[in-house]
Amino acid sequence: MILDILERSLRERSPLIPVEALWNTCEGSRLPDVDPALLTPAIARRVSEICPTAAFTAREESNRMELKLSYGECIGCARCIDVGQGAIVAAKAFPWTGVSKQRLVRRWSVNDRAEVQVISPESEEARKEICALLGRALNIRQLDSGSCNGCEAEITALTNPHYDLERFGIHFVASPKHADMLLVTGPVTRNMAEAVKLTYEAVPAPKLVVAVGACGCSGGVFAGSHAVVGPVDAVIPVDAYIPGCPPTPAMLVSGILQVLHQRNGNR
Ligand code: SF4
Ligand code: SF4
Repeated sequence: MILDILERSLRERSPLIPVEALWNTCEGSRLPDVDPALLTPAIARRVSEICPTAAFTAREESNRMELKLSYGECIGCARCIDVGQGAIVAAKAFPWTGVSKQRLVRRWSVNDRAEVQVISPESEEARKEICALLGRALNIRQLDSGSCNGCEAEITALTNPHYDLERFGIHFVASPKHADMLLVTGPVTRNMAEAVKLTYEAVPAPKLVVAVGACGCSGGVFAGSHAVVGPVDAVIPVDAYIPGCPPTPAMLVSGILQVLHQRNGNR
């Protein structure tokens, strides 16, 4: 029996996804991207009207229009893609994970049909540097500050045989006292605010805090609720943000590795 199992597992291909295939991908997240060549004032107005969280906003001034997209507020509902007439498409490559809040914001000049201040994708050199970090130990304490558990479902997938986060030397730990990084999901509810502060204080310095999901980044669909204090950075300092509702496992892996890369002085 055991020999049969061993024989079969040796015969079958490993389901493990190589890191190159995870890096900067966001398939399944329904996060939008913009094709500026097809962008018109009517489309910019339409997507900003239809967006339920004001992640897309259009601003008009002196006959000029700017379209702004804040990934931290995007819940991936794909309404903008439905009405975007090809100018708004599902993002394929996604380097905006594990970055600062400012970098979650993109802008396009509708008149010029061009992105304002394009963020260049990771160079091959940076990608190699990030891969060189793999295998170094990192202990993560995941903290739910009021999430719907959608983000937790994706985080749980990180330890399955497809993603196997432990192959990078990254482990989830039970106590904040053993953690290097806090991975915080959900908007911070009033009931959880004190627990979030105490957990943050229990993590030994130097510590990293990563806000996960639209809720962690901006409050998401719960922003403004009387039961919510705000996003994670309303309660504790945050080093980096991983957007999405929920972020896919690939976005989580890329984001965590990106944070490690920045910690090592690469910005
Ligand atoms: S996918 Fe994001 S940006 Fe588009 S309408 Fe939904 S929340 Fe707004
Ligand atoms: S970001 Fe989305 S999936 Fe994650 S906790 Fe908030 S509502 Fe749930």
